[in-house]
Amino acid sequence: MDSEGRYARERERMVDEHLAARGVTDPHVLEAMRRVPRHRFVQEALRARAYGDHALPIGEEQTISQPFIVGLMTSLLELTGREKVLEVGTGSGYQTAVLAELARRVCSIERLPRLAERARATLEALGHVNVWVRVGNGALGWPDEAPFDRIIVTAGSPAIPPPLVQQLAEGGRMVLPVGSPENQVLTVVDNVGGEIRQRPHGECKFVKLVGKYAWEP
Ligand code: SAH
Repeated sequence: MDSEGRYARERERMVDEHLAARGVTDPHVLEAMRRVPRHRFVQEALRARAYGDHALPIGEEQTISQPFIVGLMTSLLELTGREKVLEVGTGSGYQTAVLAELARRVCSIERLPRLAERARATLEALGHVNVWVRVGNGALGWPDEAPFDRIIVTAGSPAIPPPLVQQLAEGGRMVLPVGSPENQVLTVVDNVGGEIRQRPHGECKFVKLVGKYAWEP
C-alpha cells in the first residue's frame, strides 16, 4: 500500500477510535476529519505519529492540537456551511482546514509569522480557497471582517477577550479555553439576541494566548 493509502487508513482509525468512540458524533465533523490529511500539517519526521490522539510539536514551542479536541471544538461550533468563522491561533493550520471544509469562509490569525507562513502554504497546497491567514494578536479580533458567526480560539486565555465578544454576531457562538496556563475550561459563549451567555464544557490544556487581553509575552 502506498503511503497516502496508509495515512488514509490511519485517519479512519483515528476517527473511529479517538473521535466517534469518545462522543464526537456529528457526521459532518467526522467526514471532514476523514478528509483532511493531518500528516501534511506536521514535519516529515513526525508524520508516523500524526494520527495518534496527542498534540505534536510544530516548532516555535507551539503544538498542533490533539484530534479529539479538534473534533470536540468543531462539533461545539455546530457549523452548517453558511458561516463566516474567526479562528485565533492558526498554528499548523490543521484546525483551520477542518473549519474550511465545514464553513463558508475562515479568517485565521496567528501571532508568529513563521507559523502563519507555513500554515498558509500548506492550506494553499491542499486547495483551500476560502481561508485567509493573517499575522497579529487574535485577541483583538479582525475588526474589518467582523461580525463573525463563529469564533474559535485554540490557545488558552485568562479571560474571554472583550473584542472577541464584541465581534460575535447575534445568534453567533464562540468556543475557547479559559483558565490558568496549566489548565483551562473549554467555554461556550453564545450571543442570544444581544445577550451573552456562557457555559463550561469540560477541561482542556492549550498553549498560552499571548498579548493584550491575554497573557503577557
Ligand atoms: N489549532 C492549532 C493549534 C495551535 S497552538 C493547530 O491545530 O495547529 C496555538 C497557536 O496560537 C500557536 O501557534 C500560537 O503561536 C498562537 N497564538 C498564541 N497567542 C496568540 C494570539 N494572541 N493571537 C494569535 N495567535 C496566537
